[in-house]
Amino acid sequence: MNFDLTDEQKAIQGLARDFAQNEVKPRAEVMDREEAFPYDLVAKMAELGFMGLPFPEEFGGAGADTVSYALAVMEIARADASTAITMAAHVSLGASPFYRFGTQEQKERYLVPLAQGKQLWGFGLTEPNAGSDAGNCQTKAVLRDGTWIVNGTKAFITNSGTDISGGTTITAVTGTRPDGKPEISNLIVPQATPGFTRSKKYKKMGWRASDTRELAFVDARVPEANLLGKRGEGYSQFLQILDGGRISVAALSVGLAMGAYDEALAYAKERHAFGRPISKFQAIAFKLVDMLCEIEHAKLMTLRAAWEKDAGREFEQTASLAKLYAAEVSHRVVNEALQIHGGYGFMDEYPISRMYRDQKINEIGEGTNEVQRLVLARMMGL
Ligand SMILES: Cc1cc2nc3c(=O)[nH]c(=O)nc-3n(C[C@H](O)[C@H](O)[C@H](O)COP(=O)(O)OP(=O)(O)OC[C@H]3O[C@@H](n4cnc5c(N)ncnc54)[C@H](O)[C@@H]3O)c2cc1C
Repeated sequence: MNFDLTDEQKAIQGLARDFAQNEVKPRAEVMDREEAFPYDLVAKMAELGFMGLPFPEEFGGAGADTVSYALAVMEIARADASTAITMAAHVSLGASPFYRFGTQEQKERYLVPLAQGKQLWGFGLTEPNAGSDAGNCQTKAVLRDGTWIVNGTKAFITNSGTDISGGTTITAVTGTRPDGKPEISNLIVPQATPGFTRSKKYKKMGWRASDTRELAFVDARVPEANLLGKRGEGYSQFLQILDGGRISVAALSVGLAMGAYDEALAYAKERHAFGRPISKFQAIAFKLVDMLCEIEHAKLMTLRAAWEKDAGREFEQTASLAKLYAAEVSHRVVNEALQIHGGYGFMDEYPISRMYRDQKINEIGEGTNEVQRLVLARMMGL
């Protein structure tokens, strides 16, 4: 077994770390407070190739592997979870469906500007009454004279309403299967589609500098050619995309935990009580040791899932294990990191306070902890 990163992986990790520590971290608090979407940081990430990291160069990407992508997400999340989810959702949820299921023409038209970071794109699976139970899709699309007429609502869609959002790919019921179940297909809905509107940004507890909106479709019309992949395979396509997305959320969780650990370690060395740095108290030192142990474990699981994906092996179970474990590690680590800050951790001016709010969504997005356990139990034949 070889745990060494390749030169390219190390270079991407280093690039992401420098960018995150120098350009993202110093602004994270203000962006969070002002709920300001960081257009300039997205442009910089595009310049660095991060917005299309794992896609081939012929489609505007950087041609890097999933391990490099996971390392980059970790470094950016270490500095700011909002910036990291903007990048990760764009790559793994917005652009990936075009790469996985798009025709050559759709790849050239949609994937290229996305991989170059000129546009953002949403992934519209969740609905107000269909989250974990996403197969209970109520959005409907009827094909009439070569046009899909879409009606319905999507909830909590990331990157769907920024000034540079190009559109959202959605699941919609397009008919009934021979077994009587709904036929679900994926449709590409560009931003300028008549009848397609975005709500104001949600007021969120965390990820406040990221863009999340509700989408409404009222007789929204898109051409028949905007079907992505085969008719009737939309739900299974989106589930496949979510398998890869779990590596992203695992990496986001590891990165956030690393950031919280950084803050706690520095604070523990600086803060004095009873005449010495609090890091000299065994209770605090042991907390830091346990945090590092769990972070290393979650990181290895995440990189293993990424490595399996790169090797073309089955990675679904490892990705799900990594996502579940890393999300719970981020919960424990951020909580302990705040504890080490004492009362100051409860004050907004300390980054750990933002991290505490940002953490919770890791246990909800792309399959809640409960849903991960359900998926894993099923994989284990239980
Ligand atoms: C900030 C943010 C960004 C998001 N971005 C996107 C996006 O870009 N695209 C997108 O499509 N979605 C997105 N989502 C939606 C997210 O994936 C869902 O919120 C998540 O899947 C949970 O669905 P729900 O909120 O409807 O909760 P529910 O499904 O209603 O779950 C409520 C509770 O019930 C539990 N539960 C549900 N079913 C079961 C079961 N069978 N067994 C045991 N427990 C169960 C859940 O675990 C949870 O604890 C985003 C959400 C947020 C908050």
